[in-house]
Amino acid sequence: MTDAGSPEDEPTTEIRVPRLGQRRQPVQTRHLLHAQPPIFEQGAPGRSGASLPPLDVPEADPHALFGDLCRVEPPGLPEVSEVEVTRHYTRLSRWNYAIDLGLYPLGSCTMKYNPKINERVARLPGFCGLHPAQPEATLAGALELMHRLEQALCEIAGFARVTLQPAAGAQGELCGLMMIRAYLQDQGRRPTRVLVPDSAHGTNPASCTLNQFQTVPLKTSADGLLHVDTVRAACRAWPDDIAAIMITNPSTLGLFEEEIADIADVVHEAGGLVYMDGANFNALLGKVRPGDTGVDCMHINLHKTFTTPHGGGGPGSGPVGVSSRLEPYLPIPTVERRDGRLVLDYDRPRSIGRLRSFFGNFGMFVRAYAYIREMGGEGLRRATEMAVLNAAYLRARLEGVYPVAYDRPCMHEVILSDKQLRRETGVQTLDIAKRLMDYGFHPPTVYFPLVVPGALMIEPTETETVETLDEFADALLSIAQEAREDPERVRSAPHQTALRRLDETRAARQPRLRWLPEGRAEGEPPDKAS
Ligand SMILES: *Cc1c(COP(=O)(O)O)cnc(C)c1O
Repeated sequence: MTDAGSPEDEPTTEIRVPRLGQRRQPVQTRHLLHAQPPIFEQGAPGRSGASLPPLDVPEADPHALFGDLCRVEPPGLPEVSEVEVTRHYTRLSRWNYAIDLGLYPLGSCTMKYNPKINERVARLPGFCGLHPAQPEATLAGALELMHRLEQALCEIAGFARVTLQPAAGAQGELCGLMMIRAYLQDQGRRPTRVLVPDSAHGTNPASCTLNQFQTVPLKTSADGLLHVDTVRAACRAWPDDIAAIMITNPSTLGLFEEEIADIADVVHEAGGLVYMDGANFNALLGKVRPGDTGVDCMHINLHKTFTTPHGGGGPGSGPVGVSSRLEPYLPIPTVERRDGRLVLDYDRPRSIGRLRSFFGNFGMFVRAYAYIREMGGEGLRRATEMAVLNAAYLRARLEGVYPVAYDRPCMHEVILSDKQLRRETGVQTLDIAKRLMDYGFHPPTVYFPLVVPGALMIEPTETETVETLDEFADALLSIAQEAREDPERVRSAPHQTALRRLDETRAARQPRLRWLPEGRAEGEPPDKAS
């Protein structure tokens, strides 16, 4: 069926990391996986990475200087040489999986490649040397960039204004719902309910709760779409009590919500506003402007669609676009042009206030703006076309073995299920995800969205080559074959990683994130000063 070959053809001290355009090459990892004690257990007393000249002044008594603030015992820091430190952290860094190493097909996360030119631009001294508390008169370049980025995002998404402040998509949701609430209150209304389809990202109901709204879950239909009748029925069930709908388009099922404009009309007639979760905007660039489909408010994840680093790699940024009726409620400060100059406007009486310190994650604005200018309108449209094509390609290669959850054209991501494999072999999604690591791939998002049992949610993004997509598809097909021939091999995966299968619950609930000396429990003070 496939010539991907099982990773176990290689000795077990090897893992595979992707190499561009080649077959996956085994990499010697004995030095990576073994002899890797924590830094605290390395080194020897007196060893150091620096040398200082002998003390040529009288030694000061710290107790005399600092009294009670002085620690009783030395802090117990590792005593290591420079080369030990270097090797330790270099080894650790090579345990990490990164978009710069290979495909990162986490559905709903848009883990696309982050172009290096963005990094160069963000490091220009005029940008990275700015202090957020500098006088406004010295910020002209930064304000210009923020203004231009706002204009570009307005143009791309079809909104009147955009605030750049929110630090992530989730904070963008919070910001949007706060503006919606403020708008409704100004109309003398206090509706309490927000409609959220059952396929939504968990942040949607969480943002509702934080805003003291009650979430009304809406059922997506058997075809995976949210239908206008479902929305109409909910609006009728709670007349005058619908504050908004939060709708993701394309939905987290990777499907385009075809009835979005009608849904928006129905919600507007019921007195509510339309919030769109724009995390999946990568499927719409140059094709659909959400503002044109009746959406009042939407967050845009710069760290997804606009290539700023993501997931442990950097702070996020979740600008929010609004239609003109929400403009007065934007967070302060906004950037305004007055008498030909850009200024920060704090005098906005109906604003929801400040959402974040200073102006947002400015470095992300530089990267996103650089990306938009590099790509241009045509380039962004191409990116979306390629993102959708890549997902459709994987679907075509895999759906015979991993059936699609919904038989409709997928957008930028495809949701497969373990249905067939589980029935035939007992091997299920988690096993498949773990086994993929042995093949050198980051697993896709699994068991989400919750409405699809055994979901494998795959988002390849536009930045992958057809060779990489083929390797990934071959790996998944090869795992399916293994599941038939030797299911235990898959069920006990991963075999090639530094750590084997973790207890998922304990890893999430009771992670041990720091080293403690023998015999000391978490929570005890570092030195038991008497
Ligand atoms: C990523 C994502 C979010 C949250 O965005 P963060 O920037 O991670 O806070 C919300 N909704 C959907 C559909 C997403 O994919």
